[in-house]
Amino acid sequence: MQPHGCRLDAPSTAWLPFPLDEVTSAVTGDMTCDVAIVGGGLTGLSTALHLKTVEPRIDVVLLEAGRIGYGASGLNSGQCAPRIGPAVERQVRSLGPDFAHAAYAYSLDAVELTAGLVNTCGIDCDMREAGQWQVALRDTDAITLEKRAAVYRALGFDVPLLGVDVLRASLPDSRRIRNAIAFPARLLNPGRLCVGLKRAALERGVRIFEYSRVLRFARDTGALHVDAGSIGASRVVFAVDGSVGSIDGLDTFRGTVLPVAAFAAVTRPLSAAERDVIGWRQGQGMYDARPMFNFLRPLDDGRLLIGGGYRHAPGEKVDLDLRTRSAPDLTGQLSLFFPSLREMTADRVWHGLLGCTLNEWPIVKALDAERRYWHVGAWNGHGVALAVAVGRDLAHAIAGHTAMPSVPWACPRTTSLPPALVRAVLPLYLGWLRHSSQLNI
Ligand SMILES: Cc1cc2nc3c(=O)[nH]c(=O)nc-3n(C[C@H](O)[C@H](O)[C@H](O)COP(=O)(O)OP(=O)(O)OC[C@H]3O[C@@H](n4cnc5c(N)ncnc54)[C@H](O)[C@@H]3O)c2cc1C
Repeated sequence: MQPHGCRLDAPSTAWLPFPLDEVTSAVTGDMTCDVAIVGGGLTGLSTALHLKTVEPRIDVVLLEAGRIGYGASGLNSGQCAPRIGPAVERQVRSLGPDFAHAAYAYSLDAVELTAGLVNTCGIDCDMREAGQWQVALRDTDAITLEKRAAVYRALGFDVPLLGVDVLRASLPDSRRIRNAIAFPARLLNPGRLCVGLKRAALERGVRIFEYSRVLRFARDTGALHVDAGSIGASRVVFAVDGSVGSIDGLDTFRGTVLPVAAFAAVTRPLSAAERDVIGWRQGQGMYDARPMFNFLRPLDDGRLLIGGGYRHAPGEKVDLDLRTRSAPDLTGQLSLFFPSLREMTADRVWHGLLGCTLNEWPIVKALDAERRYWHVGAWNGHGVALAVAVGRDLAHAIAGHTAMPSVPWACPRTTSLPPALVRAVLPLYLGWLRHSSQLNI
């Protein structure tokens, strides 16, 4: 069976062997539970796992449309890094320094929480502390990063700005990088993180159903309908990030959560001589200050990963031709960072689906006054640590320990646009961003 929304190219990602682990069964009839979680990415897995940890008697069912590990949570670049919402200088301007401080502090804790969870669950996902540099290739971006580092310092955070001497010592091949901000971060294998969390959740008694896509939500009864049955639950958590608008009954989100596809490519393993030229021995993750081609990291087997190239993906569908076109696009970007890799081609290319909002804040929201139904997601591409942390906080709220998840932000202001307008305007906006991000060698 080829489930809708599950990528045929999944076995070719950098992270997971195929088949990766034993598939759990699909839903085959009607059932009931205390809490149903829709979506088996990091948000859903963390919520389920933490619910069983804080209240083992709660009967938790997790429904995943495809295989766990083959959504964005298992396909991303594995940079478990802080930061949340719009750029920190914009947060200070519009929401004040106390708010910006609390938001960044939350994201720092989220990184530690994720690292702690990996350790306590004994998950083998090659996690290492490598840091993440946000780098500027253009003068305008260098000025932005200079100001940004000053804002973090004024808020009391140790987020150093790295100048040319440090950059050349670490990345001798890259003359183009003007400056960088160094964030604390872990690098890990996201596919194995998901599979490890799935195992931990199963061990704690979560009932996981793969290949069980929720097609419809009946808000009056709370029932979730899948192809072969329905699930009645006292509480429901929608943790599907960019796919929330594709569930009948949640159409209201179609103009709020914008589904965007992000592409990633890996190169062949670099030779020792090639590695010597580029340096990068610390192996930190990198994040470009430009909006469109913006994440890089070395992999343990000597290959490099580069990603970005965002496209609007209404109905989760992405033109497969784009994958072929993205390969040279992304490896072309690689040579901007490392000119010696000018001839590098992509070994593999894949994409994953992101949920984005216009105000760039994630959504953590009860859908009804009784707080029976929740919507959590739209991480705007920064979900690895945040999804895990919010899963914990939501679990505490559902278990009755807190009224609301204790996140420092709330998103009632999330702008909703008519879907027709989004369909027309977003591709143009992304196209414009792509154009303005282009740099020639
Ligand atoms: C290429 C790429 C690189 C990225 N790099 C990074 C990075 O380095 N660092 C970082 O922090 N973030 C990164 N991200 C973003 C990060 O992966 C996401 O923010 C995060 O994984 C979102 O987790 P989630 O659980 O909310 O959503 P998802 O991982 O999208 O999980 C949602 C799950 O719901 C399932 N689903 C959808 N609809 C239904 C339905 N109707 N019924 C049942 N199940 C359904 C999907 O199959 C999916 O498995 C990257 C994303 C991509 C695509």
